[in-house]
Amino acid sequence: LFVTFEGGEGAGKSTQIRRLADSLRLSGRDVLVTREPGGSAGAEAVRHVLLSGAAEEFGIRMEAMLFAAARNDHVEEVIRPALERGAIVLCDRFIDSSRVYQGVTGNLEPEYLEILQRIAINGVRPDCTIILDLPAEKGLARARTRGGEAAPDRFEKEELQTHEKRREAYLEIATADPDRCHVVDADRPEEEIAARVLAIVEPLARH
Ligand code: C5P
Repeated sequence: LFVTFEGGEGAGKSTQIRRLADSLRLSGRDVLVTREPGGSAGAEAVRHVLLSGAAEEFGIRMEAMLFAAARNDHVEEVIRPALERGAIVLCDRFIDSSRVYQGVTGNLEPEYLEILQRIAINGVRPDCTIILDLPAEKGLARARTRGGEAAPDRFEKEELQTHEKRREAYLEIATADPDRCHVVDADRPEEEIAARVLAIVEPLARH
């Protein structure tokens, strides 16, 4: 079972992934937690470049290709082998992040992006995608105050308007693909969100 988590900065993806992994492990499941960009040695190296100041000079196609290259390495080295041994894979961001960040707010043509995605994922598609939905200003405020990953990266410095656009783009993806995508209100207490996420994923994990 391949589950991806999506949403803007500060939506609580990593917290909810950790909680879901703990719950599933308690019931004896083999769970792999991973993230994008990154998740494999090669992809983490590309992440470092993508989140650095150097990437500010890259065109959107180069950026999208680097995300795709990192994704392909991550899929082939980590995700596919885990799925083949029967693990539940929980991934922080995946193809929908590319559709939203490079596609919608990066203005990259959808056709170009979809070709890249096809090459990157090579048949490994999420069975279920949890979209943590939060008003842009709340997500931004949370992302700014969290300790975690060093200084705000270049993406987090962007404007509120861009964040709102991304939020809408995620909701559109969910509407277009309702069998796969589940929108969860992330403006709720942490435990409540965790219970809701578990209620979505647990029945799928039983198969
Ligand atoms: O989720 P996390 O904060 O680790 O993501 C790192 C950054 O990479 C985010 O700030 C996000 O804006 C950016 N990103 C992106 N395109 C993707 C995936 C992530 O621009 N496809």
